[in-house]
Amino acid sequence: MDYEAVIGLEVHVQLKTNSKIFCSCVNKFGSSPNTQTCPVCLGMPGVLPVLNRKVVEYALKMGMATNCEIPRYSQLARKHYFYPDLPKGYQISQYELPLVEHGWVDVEVNGDIRRIGITRIHIEDDAGKLIHDESRPVSYVDLNRTGTPLIEIVSEPDIRSPEEASAYIRKIRQLVRYLDISDGNMEEGSLRCDANISLRPRGQKEFGTKSELKNMNSFRNVQKALEYEIRRQTALLLDGQEIVQETRLWDAGKGVTHSMRGKEEAHDYRYFPDPDLVPIEVSHEWKEEIRSTLPELPDQKRERFISQYGLPEYDAGVLTVSRDTADYFEDTVKLFDNAKTVSNWIMVELMKLLKQSGVSAGTTMERCKVTPAFLAEILKLIDSGAISAQIGKEVLADCFETGRAPGETVKEKGLSQVSDESELEAIVAKVMDANPKEVELYRSGKKKVLSFLMGQVMRETRGKANPKKVNEIFRKALEG
Ligand code: ADP
Ligand code: ZN
Ligand code: MG
Repeated sequence: MDYEAVIGLEVHVQLKTNSKIFCSCVNKFGSSPNTQTCPVCLGMPGVLPVLNRKVVEYALKMGMATNCEIPRYSQLARKHYFYPDLPKGYQISQYELPLVEHGWVDVEVNGDIRRIGITRIHIEDDAGKLIHDESRPVSYVDLNRTGTPLIEIVSEPDIRSPEEASAYIRKIRQLVRYLDISDGNMEEGSLRCDANISLRPRGQKEFGTKSELKNMNSFRNVQKALEYEIRRQTALLLDGQEIVQETRLWDAGKGVTHSMRGKEEAHDYRYFPDPDLVPIEVSHEWKEEIRSTLPELPDQKRERFISQYGLPEYDAGVLTVSRDTADYFEDTVKLFDNAKTVSNWIMVELMKLLKQSGVSAGTTMERCKVTPAFLAEILKLIDSGAISAQIGKEVLADCFETGRAPGETVKEKGLSQVSDESELEAIVAKVMDANPKEVELYRSGKKKVLSFLMGQVMRETRGKANPKKVNEIFRKALEG
């Protein structure tokens, strides 16, 4: 029996507003425990929450970026459960009337575009954090995180493989970063993902029973947890057993999922509209005001890079991974008007250096010492024949390390290309003297040895000889 996976994701994104969602405490990560709190986010009796307008705006931006509808009215609701990191005894979330609903994003997997539906996006508050003592049976509570604004993005069960799931989360991360509403960092918990997965016999319409996976803190782990879960459910089904609907925890160390709890039903949470918070009304004017602040989004930017600069699709995709990278490319092209050359140098040489230094491209272009002006300067030096492409790479590496202007490095290290005829003729003569056998071979018709002889000249000049000139001189000397 061949089974097909059906996957739907619930992604939580921490918004980087200045203050928390229902009080004026600063929304900041990394302070000493319990210093960023007030009676409201501590859930003291009698306090009243006030909704942060920016949270609504950020959520609406995400809704617009994911092609969603924005209903005129939405409502905050209390979701009740007991846990030591939740001082109010309920989370303020949204239930029947979410802020945003019915949209989609396109993701690309192995060259195929797949459209994934977005069921809804709602806003809610984050809970605090428990810190467990490893040596004693004691846990500590840090409430700095309570009241951090979150959006929850719920997808339709449209995802069909772990790779698609990973591509979908990357797309969500790319969008929140383009919109500048979150760091979108999975490892640090500002982007968290729960994965719902079921199997069905290929060709069947009805969905099977799903399990919900939690506790994956990287793209890789989401993918690995889903792969494990497909194996586990397949084995059960082939054995004639039923899947139990439950929540399972991913154990990254062991590479397995464990049952955490049975399914909770909506009525267990006693959802009801929060009587302390008025319904949210989003007027047409407010919507249009927010729409006018949206940046160019990744899909549009990618299309524009293809049409405006004539770049291959692949290049356009890589260069628009982040706004940073895209801006870097465009700033460089303004100074050196050959888009494909600029693209190659960013994608191959610069990204190699970034990778070697342990930073991922995109989030860090600002801190890259090779400014667009420096990269353009190197490309101009190569273009004019002042240095060879090989030397250009060395100069780039030097600039990446030190931030020194490429022109200075070339002058100081004497890296200028040697184009002087008489100088090159002398070197060619020397190489021919030292390699009589190769010269003989060439003259007897084995023209391929020329590249060996050229290599010898390059060695003599440490890569600085102008290859075109050397080639001409050799041909004259060998054939003439
Ligand atoms: P619940 O009632 O458990 O909260 P929902 O219907 O609200 O379930 O869906 C939660 C998430 O699970 C959504 O992302 C949805 O796409 C996904 N989902 C729903 N049914 C299935 C299924 N049978 N298999 C896989 N994913 C599913
Ligand atoms: Zn507070
Ligand atoms: Mg649900």
